[in-house]
Amino acid sequence: MYKAPRGTADILPAEQAYFRYVEERAAEICQRYGYMRIDTPVFEDSRLFIRTIGPGTDIVEKETYSFYDRSGHIMTLRPEGTAPICRAYLEHGMHNLPKPVRLYYFAAIFRYERPQKGRYRQHQQFGYEALGEGDPALDAEIIDMARCFFKSLGLRRLSMQVNSIGCNKCRPGYLKKLKGYYSKYIDQLCPECKGRYRKNPIRLLDCKKPSCQGAANGAPKSTASLCPECREHFKDVLGYLRLMKIPFKQNHRLVRGLDYYTRTVFEVQPQGDGGAQSALGGGGRYDDLIEELGGKPTPAIGFAAGIERTVLNLKEHGITPPAPKAQGIYIAYVGDKAREEAVKLAAQLRSAGLPVYRSFGQKSLKAQMRQANASGADQAFIFGEDEIKNGKVVYRDMVEGEQWEISVDEVIALLTQV
Ligand code: AMP
Repeated sequence: MYKAPRGTADILPAEQAYFRYVEERAAEICQRYGYMRIDTPVFEDSRLFIRTIGPGTDIVEKETYSFYDRSGHIMTLRPEGTAPICRAYLEHGMHNLPKPVRLYYFAAIFRYERPQKGRYRQHQQFGYEALGEGDPALDAEIIDMARCFFKSLGLRRLSMQVNSIGCNKCRPGYLKKLKGYYSKYIDQLCPECKGRYRKNPIRLLDCKKPSCQGAANGAPKSTASLCPECREHFKDVLGYLRLMKIPFKQNHRLVRGLDYYTRTVFEVQPQGDGGAQSALGGGGRYDDLIEELGGKPTPAIGFAAGIERTVLNLKEHGITPPAPKAQGIYIAYVGDKAREEAVKLAAQLRSAGLPVYRSFGQKSLKAQMRQANASGADQAFIFGEDEIKNGKVVYRDMVEGEQWEISVDEVIALLTQV
């Protein structure tokens, strides 16, 4: 028997209501804040990701799904949503639009990770990006939007964690300080952190291994090494958050996993749990990314939430999506002649755009009514030998459980009129 590949999951019909609920709320919030939907391809030229996410990051080093296409070009299945949007922004001249250009997406994301609860090799993200504006008020708005999104789903006990990791002017100085500090602890670090020390020292801060906690907790803070511009920017972001009454926690160890981030970074965590594994979403500024891709200097900021993790959290909190209203028409029949009438009516109602479920084969009326109940139909038509002789059919109101006989012509006239 074949199984879905490790780390992937089928989203079965019974689960769909959760996913649609999350997507509908997400789209509503985006509309409220003036964001337009964008879809980008599932795969891109690998260089786009290597260059932007960073060659020393976990994602690029060990997690991408990359392959040569039949022309020998190396392609990568999208491991994150921001770089493709920046590529599209430049490719389609969106820099000529009024700023900030606000875009949102739903995207399948692929990362070859060690699968566990809430961590898959293919997952869905909802994300949004605002390009072309550096104002700290935009950072606060982007953070507020994330809070509104989770709140609209009924998820309230979440913690908004924020930090600033500076810009390309002040970060080198900070990394030097960080490496200087960590040089005393190098022997105690986990093997992965030993590698990070050389290749990506900022990621030392978010290691979850017990052996690395002591060193990470006492490490110098990025906010203490900010240049005057970044310090002012971060002060203003926090000021706006207070002004908007958005509760937040400053987390000096929050750094995020991709190289392109600058200045503000933030994450939404379920309360009481500090593990990065449980983050429902995260984002930050990436003021150099567009330039890195060949565009003009363009400050930008974005956010992405994991849909599966959000659904897991909804379930843990006992939040169920609103049940869909029973809707549809079930057509049952008893006997061969009656079946012909049923086939005819089903076709007529469907071509008038109505949702119709119909019976097949030779089932008892009882079995057909069971099926009608399970289908979610709110009305049923039952053809029997006696009724069709008089051009009639039994109409059953599935919600009230009442039924009566009516003429087939009347049914068609009533249901198919526009
Ligand atoms: P990231 O791009 O890593 O910041 O991820 C944004 C959000 O996507 C995270 O906060 C998670 O909710 C979700 N996410 C990231 N990686 C995975 C994964 N492997 N499986 C499921 N969800 C994930």
